[in-house]
Amino acid sequence: MEFSSKLLENAVYEVSQLPGIGKRTALRLVLHLLKQPEQQTYHLANALVKLKDEINFCKNCHNISDTETCEICANPKRDSSIICVVEDVRDVMAIENTSQFQGHYHVLGGKISPMEGVGPQDLTIPALVTKVKGGGVKELIFALSASMEGDTTNFYIYKQLEGLQVATSTIARGIAVGDELEYADEVTLGRSILHRVPFESSLKSN
Ligand SMILES: [Zn+2]
Repeated sequence: MEFSSKLLENAVYEVSQLPGIGKRTALRLVLHLLKQPEQQTYHLANALVKLKDEINFCKNCHNISDTETCEICANPKRDSSIICVVEDVRDVMAIENTSQFQGHYHVLGGKISPMEGVGPQDLTIPALVTKVKGGGVKELIFALSASMEGDTTNFYIYKQLEGLQVATSTIARGIAVGDELEYADEVTLGRSILHRVPFESSLKSN
């Protein structure tokens, strides 16, 4: 792609680094931004800078938060003895939308994936194990997507908790294998949390 301006080329390059955005789409978006009123483009740029500079991760559950402790963890009405283990913030949002879960979350930040070089230490698994060992946790609900990586991650955590007084369960699979939680409809996802099954029995059925 031949550019008439270095500034244009730079902007297109940066936008094309986003997932799913090719050079052509990037060019279309950049030209669109150029045509927008100044304020609008500045607001977008400022929102991105602020996002990166000021965002926090909840020190308890690792959810994205504006404060040190997220609203869910800070809510005294939520049950901190039941922890739903999820991959990322999108899953928290999807489960919150169902209004069927009143416990806490633990956001792993991904799944164990030897293929992509992601190990337990790259995720918040050690923090989760420490939290459970600290006591006060009655149940962990595994709510990772049903994939090889999800299963590996569940099993790894389960093994780490062996001998500890904590129940482990997994969300019922109304959700087809390979489906991501965020795409499941609210009713199905809500039911799959209510009808969760003990983790051991999910192992036997495999
Ligand atoms: Zn939190």
